[in-house]
Amino acid sequence: MTHILIVEDESRITTFLEKGLQASGYTTTPASSGADATAIALDGNVDLLLLDLGLPGQNGLDVLKDLRGQGFQAPVIILTARSGIDDKVAGFELGADDYLTKPFRFEELLARIRARLRNPSTPADHSPTVLTQGDIALDLRTRRLRLGGQPVDLSAREFTLLETFMRNADQVLSRQHLLDLVWGYDYEPGSNVVDVYVGYLRKKLGSHAIETVRGMGYRFTR
Ligand code: CA
Repeated sequence: MTHILIVEDESRITTFLEKGLQASGYTTTPASSGADATAIALDGNVDLLLLDLGLPGQNGLDVLKDLRGQGFQAPVIILTARSGIDDKVAGFELGADDYLTKPFRFEELLARIRARLRNPSTPADHSPTVLTQGDIALDLRTRRLRLGGQPVDLSAREFTLLETFMRNADQVLSRQHLLDLVWGYDYEPGSNVVDVYVGYLRKKLGSHAIETVRGMGYRFTR
């Protein structure tokens, strides 16, 4: 299993990241301070590190400098509210591989994580590249859907929603959980966007692919 260390002092964001990454097939460990992060990272089995910059005590850039100085090799993605060019330049100079500013969309973070883990100089990503269920085959590398062998067009959001359903087949997923996983945390409260997109997927996959579980949410059953 690919192991991601999440260095973040805001528990709301840590929870959001852990839920999303675990649902996407990763194992995660949270760390809320630089000292904890350094100890876990140097312990050796971290495949990728997500690093907040505004941390209590030692800030994220110092953590990064320490880790790279001590030979930590895994990719580091900085995830921060700081969007200034100075922080970005400093981050890359100290050995970060990527930089994403908050607020962010979970699907973009996931795409960046996958891109970093595909780099052959880093440990291999053993998660599957094609999800299949019945006659549905969803290729995570080419981002294409085949239904009974025939290509079907999906928007980026439809793709991420279907991927989430397929990774959690036969489980009931609440609208809130789907909003968190697919839309990130910056959607409109009370939004019916999940229902709208489930409707789009049903049109493309057949209406029985996704079951409505009254009062609870949706279940992918195909
Ligand atoms: Ca912070």
